[in-house]
Amino acid sequence: MFHAQILTLFPEFFDSPLACSIPKRAIASGLVQVDTIQIRDFATDKHSRVDDTPYGGGPGMLMKPEPVVASIREARLRHPDTHVVMLTPSGSRFTQAKALEFTEKAGITLLCGRYEGFDERICDYVDEEISLGDYVLSGGEPAAICLLDAVIRLLPEVLGSPESAVLDSFSEEGILDWPHYTRPEVFEGKQVPDVLLSGNHAKIEAWRYEQANLRSSKRRDEESEHGQ
Ligand code: SAM
Repeated sequence: MFHAQILTLFPEFFDSPLACSIPKRAIASGLVQVDTIQIRDFATDKHSRVDDTPYGGGPGMLMKPEPVVASIREARLRHPDTHVVMLTPSGSRFTQAKALEFTEKAGITLLCGRYEGFDERICDYVDEEISLGDYVLSGGEPAAICLLDAVIRLLPEVLGSPESAVLDSFSEEGILDWPHYTRPEVFEGKQVPDVLLSGNHAKIEAWRYEQANLRSSKRRDEESEHGQ
């Protein structure tokens, strides 16, 4: 069974997203086990402090190394084969390929920051640093749940139809998904493309392939226009 451990100051953050839809079913079917570990439980002083002011001055507080590293050690003790991922805006960008790579591990441990982030020395205790994108969230928890959701749906047997994951956007060399339509045939004057009603599977496949490519190159053009 794939394991996911989440090191966090807010374990309750994960209750609702893991109790819905695909993650809920994956957990109930025993395909994945998700545990949270409260970083504060590893604080060493009598006030259970997990943050402190930065050396050299500056705004905000930083996550202290002692409780964070102790929580990583606890995660490795529970699952010696775990892959520890720090969530940080300075990490390498999370992608569908990375999600797939994580499914090949025995399990992952996601380290969630708060405040102004981590004492830099904590980086020496993790296997990888990952960013969800070039924006700043208030904590690692929303990043962790996005990453975990993307990984869970790729685990074997999680999706009813394994084809769904293979056909998703980005699965094939960064190609986006094609446009989809369902009933009704006409909605507020907008007609489903004729080809999808034709029953000609070869034509439908060719149309989908063409649309996916069109959409992908349009998006790449937009990105390069905005210097991304
Ligand atoms: N001062 C940090 C910076 O500018 O890089 C931002 C710290 S942020 C307010 C607090 C925590 O949220 C981070 O330690 C990290 O765990 C998480 N976080 C914020 N944005 C993230 C992102 N884009 N990807 C992954 N984690 C993120």
